[in-house]
Amino acid sequence: MPVLVMKFGGTSVANLDRIRRAAKRVGVEVAKGYDVIVIVSAMSGKTNELVGWVDEISPLYDAREYDAVVSSGENVTAGLMALTLQEMDVPARSWQGWQVPLITTSAHSAARIEEIPTKNINQKFAEGMKVAVVAGFQGISPEGRITTLGRGGSDTTAVAFAAAFEAERCDIYTDVDGVYTTDPRICGKARKLDKISFEEMLELASLGAKVLQTRSVELAMRYKVKLRVLSSFEEQSDEAGTLVCDEEEIMESNVVSGVAYSRDEAQMTLLSVADRPGIAATIFGALSDAGVNVDMIVQDVSEEGRTNMTFSLPVDQVKRAEKAMNDIKGVSLNYDTLQIEPDVAKVSVVGIGMRSQSGVAAKMFKVLSDEGINIKVITTSEIKISVLIDRKYMELAVQALHDAFGLDKAA
Ligand code: ADP
Ligand code: ASP
Ligand code: MG
Repeated sequence: MPVLVMKFGGTSVANLDRIRRAAKRVGVEVAKGYDVIVIVSAMSGKTNELVGWVDEISPLYDAREYDAVVSSGENVTAGLMALTLQEMDVPARSWQGWQVPLITTSAHSAARIEEIPTKNINQKFAEGMKVAVVAGFQGISPEGRITTLGRGGSDTTAVAFAAAFEAERCDIYTDVDGVYTTDPRICGKARKLDKISFEEMLELASLGAKVLQTRSVELAMRYKVKLRVLSSFEEQSDEAGTLVCDEEEIMESNVVSGVAYSRDEAQMTLLSVADRPGIAATIFGALSDAGVNVDMIVQDVSEEGRTNMTFSLPVDQVKRAEKAMNDIKGVSLNYDTLQIEPDVAKVSVVGIGMRSQSGVAAKMFKVLSDEGINIKVITTSEIKISVLIDRKYMELAVQALHDAFGLDKAA
């Protein structure tokens, strides 16, 4: 039997009615003759609640216990989905990550999938089971402890299963009907794309468009998984939603194809660092040891042997970063003060057309300056430009850039 992977995100399993609605969609695919692997997220809001509890009890938590707690939301929805399907007379069984077993690295809270043995589930399919419901987001480390794959990780579970079982397609059911030129929730003119290239989706995802987890796009690209994003709230045809595919399959595209943002960023500056070889290694080594994911970095020109080092990071890692910097102060690094700006956001424009067309950066900076938005940090790569700005201007920046690059109109 051909295998289909269907992933339902948090809003698509937010309550029993929605689980029933999702189960019906699964039933439709079973009736077409597929063996289906359903990947479920926790009910929407559940993972945030679990993370909140962990933070409250232990701000600098042990990541193994964080995983033990935050993985639990998916266990509930996996069991409920299997029961709902059984009530519909569809033979179904649930699997938690460790039961598969979905083996990951030991990098708790940001683990990577190493292996998905297909034997157990395939044997059940051979015995007549039609649907395997798998708890997304979670796995088991070589040490036998529960791990999680990072926020949004159920997308990655889904694509990894599609690759392992050589599924015909991996359908990601969510609360929007596809991938848009920018988040439709903050820009009314956002336009749904029928197709988007893996490269552009990868950039958009890594720059904050949370519709797909970055790692899921990487895996789909590497294993040539046919990946589709669509709504669980509408009746669907086989052509619905957005197909993430190779660049060659897309006939025309704008120079800029999307705008992404990441709201919850912070900026830290170490003022007056004694400049000498090795300061960057010392600072970023300490941050890395503390589990901080540094993003943008700027080092000022040195004056009289002192310099300033600025970097951005997720706002929820500020406490860890602050502690790491305080710990090395006066020990392996000399600096005057640590300045923290917790209210910044990153806005980025993405497009493979930038490879061949210049002037995109200049236009982006002009648009922001016309809106009176000050740029704090800039980074670029071949197909994207990102700026760090005050968070209060984030939505304005996204809308102005979307307009200026004509993203509401097809190429
Ligand atoms: P799920 O719970 O189904 O995994 P997510 O909340 O993780 O859903 O992702 C879907 C959300 O991603 C949408 O509700 C939308 O607000 C947001 N989003 C951000 N950028 C985009 C984009 N470019 N296209 C579509 N959705 C986007
Ligand atoms: N429940 C997890 C989260 O909210 C994983 C997911 O939904 O993809 O991040
Ligand atoms: Mg998600």
